[in-house]
Amino acid sequence: MLIVIDPGHGGKDPGGTGFGLKEKDLTLKVARLLIDKLSGYQVEVVFTRAGDDTVSLGARAGLANSRGADFFCSLHVNAGGGTGFESYVHVAAPEGTEGLRAVLHEELMRYYGRFGFPDRGKKRANFAVLRETRMPAVLLENLFIDHPRDAAHLADPSFLDGLAGALAQALVKALHLQPEQKWDPAGEIARLKERGLIVGDHDPNSPVTWGEFATVLNRLLDRKESAL
Ligand SMILES: [Zn+2]
Repeated sequence: MLIVIDPGHGGKDPGGTGFGLKEKDLTLKVARLLIDKLSGYQVEVVFTRAGDDTVSLGARAGLANSRGADFFCSLHVNAGGGTGFESYVHVAAPEGTEGLRAVLHEELMRYYGRFGFPDRGKKRANFAVLRETRMPAVLLENLFIDHPRDAAHLADPSFLDGLAGALAQALVKALHLQPEQKWDPAGEIARLKERGLIVGDHDPNSPVTWGEFATVLNRLLDRKESAL
């Protein structure tokens, strides 16, 4: 599973601005927090920009296409008079994309709702990154940078951390991300026992003698030979 996260704007393009905040900084901050939140899951996360870089819309979609991404999520902050959260898919987005967007939208609204922010709805638009990506793609407009109450929350690091956490959980739910397999020494010993390669109980931390090691190897090789 490969997710491309697109922190909106960057470099020469600050995006929306207000109350000393720049959209390009906020989208990158949330993206960076998000990658930590997803570190325990079986997913590869790629950004369309790693820093304060100028990247065209075509290049953002092109990266996702060339990497064969399974999902594209563009992060933005709204401006221009309003408050709250809204999400976008392309005007011609298929059912599957709409389903994924619905999960993301509901999970994020659960977070925004706790702070009393309104749901501005699930919308469709002909945005370039949604049009040019060849996989399910969603664009999220996270509050309004030029609204005093929205901006005050966007300026709060703990609010952004919570937002990244909510987005991570939304992606886990929508894309059915699985937790990373943890190393389980006792479980591995139990599996060897089940397979008949070892007989007794062994403490995962106790050392192995050459006699034991050779016995296990010979049992393994005997099986391989008898299978031929
Ligand atoms: Zn934007």
